[in-house]
Amino acid sequence: MNVRDSEVITGLLMRQDYQAVTEEVEADIIIYNTCSVRQHAEDKVWSELGRFRERKSPSRTPNPESRKPIIGLVGCMAQNYKDEIFKRAPQVDFVVGPSDIHKIPGIIEKVTKPQGHRVTSRGLFESKIWETDGNIRLDDIYHTGFYKDKNHAYTVISEGCSNFCSYCVVPYVRGELKNRNYKDIIKEIEGAVDKGITNITLLGQNVCAYQYGDVNLVKLLKLVNPVKGLKEFSFVTSHPKDTVVDLFRAMRDLEKIKKYLHLPVQSGSNRILKDMNRGYTREEYLKIIDKVRSLIPRISITTDIIVGFPGEREEDFVDTLSLMEEVRFASAYMFKYSSRPGTLAERMLDQIPEEIKLKRLHKVIDLQRKMATAGAAKR
Ligand code: SAH
Ligand code: SF4
Repeated sequence: MNVRDSEVITGLLMRQDYQAVTEEVEADIIIYNTCSVRQHAEDKVWSELGRFRERKSPSRTPNPESRKPIIGLVGCMAQNYKDEIFKRAPQVDFVVGPSDIHKIPGIIEKVTKPQGHRVTSRGLFESKIWETDGNIRLDDIYHTGFYKDKNHAYTVISEGCSNFCSYCVVPYVRGELKNRNYKDIIKEIEGAVDKGITNITLLGQNVCAYQYGDVNLVKLLKLVNPVKGLKEFSFVTSHPKDTVVDLFRAMRDLEKIKKYLHLPVQSGSNRILKDMNRGYTREEYLKIIDKVRSLIPRISITTDIIVGFPGEREEDFVDTLSLMEEVRFASAYMFKYSSRPGTLAERMLDQIPEEIKLKRLHKVIDLQRKMATAGAAKR
């Protein structure tokens, strides 16, 4: 999602005649498009920003003109911390949440105008701007026509998420689920194909919950398939609780859909799945896998796994290992549970010690590696 958002931001700026540069030293403006899904992602940004702290300190750069590079912090961390960012990182000039990115060109304009700067008695510039109150994206932002790749493009079909899995910050920083009009989605895809793109990935936090008027995900796939010039397309991420057999039938029957399903399971333990508020059981998940494999035998299935969720006992973890062995995922993204501020899980008792989380992470990674190698050898 952030890869696409970065393209959108680049496209909006290029439309205003800004140019992208490849070397940081050449840049007048640096924008960090940030992620808050795990603490680690945030830590990386704080540490990156640290590099500019000294260089941009007001005592060193009293002249606004020499305050380059202008630094913007955009995306989920912006939404999470708002103007708190400036306290922790005064070198940041503007902060923009995910639903306000259309405002970025205007904000840069304001920040870079010399009369916009004022040195206060404390020697600080009072030119900080933050925009984090938006809750709906203007569809126009998706139509700048800028794509990094020549052949492949991501197309957002929905923004935000209303599932509130107990560990997840997404509903808080990206807001509730908002679906794009399918007509705009098709228009964007047609535009991309006109530019030579042949492969599309439809994007959403839970694409299976897509609904615009009477168009659900299955209908949307049927609208995308006939787009002239499009050769292949896929979609991420699917949520097990919202998958329907019709979806798998459509995947089987529509010739341009890649036979690939990313279906995050998170845990193999029913107790943990319940506490995670995932809305399905281990047995239901396995049933879905059976169904999709019976309809599309050569499908590639991948997943996400979290280890060390609060209260995860050894037997719960063993359930995750056994589920992985049972399903034999083609690949998996595996994470240590990371406590996120404001989520339900943050307040759960029995947080798991770091060293146990790490041990479990290594175990799932090893197991997945073994199975992937065995799977590749079999093929
Ligand atoms: N909407 C998708 C993806 C959300 S974020 C879904 O529901 O599957 C991508 C992955 O990050 C999640 O699937 C989950 O495995 C992981 N994740 C999210 N929050 C996390 C947290 N607090 N700690 C560790 N991993 C987390
Ligand atoms: Fe987060 Fe759950 Fe929504 Fe995925 S489905 S974005 S994990 S709340």
